[in-house]
Amino acid sequence: LAARMGFIGLGNMGGHMARNLIKKGHQLVVYDVSADNVKAIKEAGAEVAGSPAEVASRVTSLVSMLPESSHVQQVYTGPKGIFSAVQKGSLLMDCSTIDPYVSRTMATIAKQHGAEFVDAPVSGGVNAARDAVLTFMVGGPDSAYNAASLYLSCMGKNVVHCGPVGNGQAAKICNNMLLGISMIGTSETMNLGIKLGLDPKLLAKILNMSSGRCWSSEVYNPCPGVLEGVPSSNDYKGGFGTALMTKDLGLAQNAATAAKSPTPLGSLAHQIYRTMTNHGFGGKDFSSAFKFLQDQNEQ
Ligand code: NAD
Repeated sequence: LAARMGFIGLGNMGGHMARNLIKKGHQLVVYDVSADNVKAIKEAGAEVAGSPAEVASRVTSLVSMLPESSHVQQVYTGPKGIFSAVQKGSLLMDCSTIDPYVSRTMATIAKQHGAEFVDAPVSGGVNAARDAVLTFMVGGPDSAYNAASLYLSCMGKNVVHCGPVGNGQAAKICNNMLLGISMIGTSETMNLGIKLGLDPKLLAKILNMSSGRCWSSEVYNPCPGVLEGVPSSNDYKGGFGTALMTKDLGLAQNAATAAKSPTPLGSLAHQIYRTMTNHGFGGKDFSSAFKFLQDQNEQ
């Protein structure tokens, strides 16, 4: 299927995802508040709209990929938001990681306009977005999931139905809590090993053939020079910002509080990333936990 569709939020992830839709033959109508991000995708062949409302008035299916709940609320319900112009029968796919409660609210409003909203947050970093191998965790009714899969599969290799609207976010929040914890674990482990005199590449190799192996050690190692093409080897630029990881761990803590589920390490990880954010690491990739801990070493 090749169709005209909308895309709102062309950042680290959305830029690559939009490009993959173009590559698969879709004609995109895009919007972002960042002129630079719009320019890059316009050069790749997209049409540019002046507001989310204009996007919604020109297409009947669209993807949004925004930082936080507040941006999603603004883009959907704001004065020039999607809901001010959405067409009946539209399919709205939000891939941002946000509060499941906000996803459910957006779905309720969409229904009032005769449209369908699904939450479809992703796992996989910017490289997975670039290579169209993301995993989408989708919440929504069967029919909307089936319709969304046709578009989402252009940007990812797994599209998993998690249940009703909001359940995609629930799955994503759980994954990121574990990721946030394991990245700190990997960082403190690499830091200790180096202090004990081990070569970082050798240590990573041993971890990755042993029971300490995890995604953070193997695919996204936080120690500079261990892997090429990951943020740690590029001064922690690009990737997944520490501020966004702090946000996700906050969502996990809110959910855990509501569910009365104890999450002691998730809570501690949240505090560590929040401290990093307050010390100037917010815009750096979250694997800079390694650098942050290294800076705490006795000099
Ligand atoms: P980003 O900050 O790089 O991109 C967000 C984009 O949204 C930017 O281009 C920004 O200008 C735009 N934007 C902000 N407010 C807007 C508005 N009101 N209207 C239109 N555009 C607006 O973020 P990202 O890294 O691409 O992440 C997007 C989402 O995906 C987040 O929820 C994040 O948690 C999630 N996520 C990110 C990664 C990752 O590795 N970066 C991985 C999985 C999930």
